Amino acid sequence: MRSLQSDIEQRGARIFELVDKHPERFFSKAGFYQRLMALSMHDERFKTQLFRFVAVLPSLHRSSEIIEHLEEYFSDGNDGFHPLVSLGVRVARLVPWMSAAILRWNVSETAHQFIAGRNPHDVIATLRKRRAQKICFTVDVLGEAVVSEVEADEYAARYADLLDKLARETKDWTDPLGKSAELFPVLNLSVKISALYSQMSPAAPADAIAHLSTKLRPLLRRARELGAFINFDMESYALKNTTLELFKTILTEVEFKDWPHAGIVIQAYLRDSDHDLRDLIEWGCARGTRFAVRLVKGAYWDYETTKSGQNGSNPPVFLQKPESDANFEELTRLLFENEAIVTAAFGSHNIRSIAHAQAVADELRIDRSRFEFQLLYGMAGPIKRALVEMGYRVREYCPIGELLPGMAYLVRRLLENTSNEGFLRAKFAENVPAKELLRDPKDLIQPASVGTVDPGTPNRANVKNGTSLHSTDGHSFRNAPLVSFIYKDSQDKMQSALREARKRLGEKHPLYIGGEKIWTDNLTPSVNPAEPTEIVGYGTEAGVEEAERAVKAARAAFEKWRWTPFEERAQLLERAADILERRRYELSAVEVFEVGKPWSEADADIREAIDFCTFYAQQMRRLGRPKLTQQVPGEESYHHYWPRGVAFVIAPWNFPIAILCGMASAGVVTGNAVIMKPSEQSIICGAMLMQVFEEAGVPPGVLNFLSGHGSVIGAHLVDHKDVDLVAFTGSREVGLKIWQSAGITRPGQRELKRVICEMGGKNAIIVDTDADLDETIMYSIYSAFGFQGQKCSALSRLILLEENYGRVMERLIPAAASLRIGNPEQPGIMVGPVIDEAAYRRILEYIEIGKKEATLAFQAKEVPPRGYFIPPTIFTDVKPHMRIAREEIFGPVLSVLKVRDLDEALEVANGTDYALTGGFFSRSPDNIERVKARLEAGNVYINRSCTGAIVGRHPFGGFKMSGSGTKAGGEDYLLHFLVPRVVTENTSRHGFAPEQSPEYRDEFLWPKPRR
Ligand SMILES: Cc1cc2nc3c(=O)[nH]c(=O)nc-3n(C[C@H](O)[C@H](O)[C@H](O)COP(=O)(O)OP(=O)(O)OC[C@H]3O[C@@H](n4cnc5c(N)ncnc54)[C@H](O)[C@@H]3O)c2cc1C
Repeated sequence: MRSLQSDIEQRGARIFELVDKHPERFFSKAGFYQRLMALSMHDERFKTQLFRFVAVLPSLHRSSEIIEHLEEYFSDGNDGFHPLVSLGVRVARLVPWMSAAILRWNVSETAHQFIAGRNPHDVIATLRKRRAQKICFTVDVLGEAVVSEVEADEYAARYADLLDKLARETKDWTDPLGKSAELFPVLNLSVKISALYSQMSPAAPADAIAHLSTKLRPLLRRARELGAFINFDMESYALKNTTLELFKTILTEVEFKDWPHAGIVIQAYLRDSDHDLRDLIEWGCARGTRFAVRLVKGAYWDYETTKSGQNGSNPPVFLQKPESDANFEELTRLLFENEAIVTAAFGSHNIRSIAHAQAVADELRIDRSRFEFQLLYGMAGPIKRALVEMGYRVREYCPIGELLPGMAYLVRRLLENTSNEGFLRAKFAENVPAKELLRDPKDLIQPASVGTVDPGTPNRANVKNGTSLHSTDGHSFRNAPLVSFIYKDSQDKMQSALREARKRLGEKHPLYIGGEKIWTDNLTPSVNPAEPTEIVGYGTEAGVEEAERAVKAARAAFEKWRWTPFEERAQLLERAADILERRRYELSAVEVFEVGKPWSEADADIREAIDFCTFYAQQMRRLGRPKLTQQVPGEESYHHYWPRGVAFVIAPWNFPIAILCGMASAGVVTGNAVIMKPSEQSIICGAMLMQVFEEAGVPPGVLNFLSGHGSVIGAHLVDHKDVDLVAFTGSREVGLKIWQSAGITRPGQRELKRVICEMGGKNAIIVDTDADLDETIMYSIYSAFGFQGQKCSALSRLILLEENYGRVMERLIPAAASLRIGNPEQPGIMVGPVIDEAAYRRILEYIEIGKKEATLAFQAKEVPPRGYFIPPTIFTDVKPHMRIAREEIFGPVLSVLKVRDLDEALEVANGTDYALTGGFFSRSPDNIERVKARLEAGNVYINRSCTGAIVGRHPFGGFKMSGSGTKAGGEDYLLHFLVPRVVTENTSRHGFAPEQSPEYRDEFLWPKPRR
């Protein structure tokens, strides 16, 4: 008996033979496209610029714009681009109108290589040609990212229309094999699930399934009536579990339980694909009706690895190409072994993968009419022809749509065709020998990084994974990954934490002074803003007496703590970080109840607290060692730091654990003694943080917890002669008072008081004429309305250029209207309640002011009846002098300002008292550079949301009336808690001096710590 490998080699050789019999250029279109692809494969930088240019081109309207972009992308002075490209740029400068038209034509021709038609009418012509070649089809509708329910409904309608039109046109068509035709309806549609619901949240599969089922049922029903087949395509990993669940749920419904003509995709590049396929098969057996699976490797490899790199988590995909190939083969076998319940389709252009499937089918005696090969339109024509000739069923995946919505698809195809690791490039562009291409992928896997590490755990093999660039002696900083609510396990843990937190509602929390728990007669209730009758817990109210006691305790503790080696102090923070991680869900749940944070926002807050602890621990190790200033003979000077003394930390409620923890941990790790006061609206979160530090072993008096009224204890401590530093984050009004009051030197005061002051913002995002509108809308909506607009970084002014004002508004308002508003205890909520009644009233007042000053363009109609819910609101016709354009509102209210051009946009953006965050959406490299240089904001974000700063990566804080220029989570932050000192020693004795002094020396500590 022949071995499987030799069988595969023989079949592969036969396919190669047939492929080579009909030589066709790899990319069927010659000329422009061929040349660009060839250049891209040899120059990564050119490839990046080319793909970016191709992506922006369809949204450019004027010839001059096209030429400007061409120049910006491809001529950077002494560019190293290919002479062909440089020549092209020069020619374009001379005849702009003609060049623009030619470019547009060429790119659109390129796109049409991969897009089968603009509309159903166009596509039918293509399908007829394929029919003559005995090639079947599946049609997919290309779409922009769906940002609103209006768009989702339009998309569903296009599918329904397509189904009917194609049914009419193909009613007499028959299966080309004429055998097992009952398994393969002629009419076959591939559906992109995310296009049918704009608010799909991985954390809320039940919500997504409920909405999507409503949209899908009529389509499936109609498909069944028409005898058509529907395939659920698979997209990014975040949507995978929901898509699988949706498929199983809807096809188990009585109406569809016995319908065999539905299929789904399994992506073999995913580590959990084996589990998913087994689960599907088990489900199929229980259902008792056939279903289909299209096995592919997966189209989002670059996206998945980038995303998980940003989060510092392990990618869900295999990292070696042969691992995906080998897994594809394992899953091929699994599909065939279960042929009795599942019809297999293999979506691949890889001749090895295809030959393997053929060989396994024969080995298991599965007739070739009972499965099929699927290939993409515009790619690998010779392979399709070869397979048809060999008697296999071949189906072509035909996307239809316009160029602009098809851009993401086109770029994915271009990436795939130029990928270093792709089969097509190896075979057709690089002529790698057949023998090499037919090797068993298992033999090609490098042992080093094989593994099935749990997705979600930090990936240490990947260098671009959020590790800080500067590490000290083996201590490097890495951001904690966010909890991924994609997983059912994480969803269950959060639900269970919410249940537990609910059981503990109403608990009382003491003050914590000098290591003792202190109670007073006054308890302050903290209420749930989503259900104001619900008391989350009680905090003990401190008065002046407790404040005095805390200062004394801190002062006393400081005298010892300041001489504690920095390593011990750093380790304290690391223990706190571990406890925060252990109690992560519990703390997130408390935030949901106490401040109305949606799940993922609450988790991000705890993650930030963890990051503050580990980052500041690492920073202290960097700063703690006295550093030699210069090498000079006979003298050494060491620069080092002392703590300031007693630090008073005043935190806000909007990041109730992270900001409090950030300021307090910075104080503690630098050797200060800290009194921390949480906001009156988030006492319970503050008390929980105190518990964390207590468990971590903070010495008595080093960290003290005082809850109470800012006007009483806050004011008292800010003015106190024994408080050396005030770290404040909050409103401008209070911040300025603190700034002023701390400037007065009181009798007996030792130090000039240092104030760290982080205040508000009136943050703007500017949208350029060439911006990617999918991203612009999605991120602007999130920046403005995420956590109800209550982040100091939130977007409150959207500045639109006249030219694209209409295009943006047309999508922005329906997107805002589609947001999920509700009690954030439910998963997937984007807009919850504002913090309390006072905020509720103040925001409503601003809305009234807005109605008088500008035009109310949108206000959500439905919000929950109880709780402090403010409907997301958008004003247009806003002018820069208006109050709603100048004053911080701190709620879900967005002002839209229309401007002439980028000059005016920058003037308006910079024209407020604040400079906290700012953003810009553009695809013009020059305009991006200009905004990077000129936008007045402490944190400038290009082509992304203007919220969500990450510790160590985006040191956060503003200037002007937004703050004193300190950067939380940045490398300079700890310096504000320290005073610098230099110790110089004459080291020469009678002219003899050591040759070298060490760059760093031990800390100046006395008595010396024992080693
Ligand atoms: C008809 C059809 C329908 C499809 N539908 C979908 C769909 O619904 N959803 C979807 O996601 N994909 C889908 N795909 C798959 C995708 O679009 C690619 O075409 C396919 O993954 C390319 O694989 P290949 O076997 O043709 O080529 P190969 O060249 O053999 O494989 C390339 C693939 O290997 C994987 N890969 C690349 N580098 C690495 C690496 N370093 N480590 C691990 N793996 C790596 C990637 O998946 C890459 O696409 C479909 C493909 C076809 C043909």
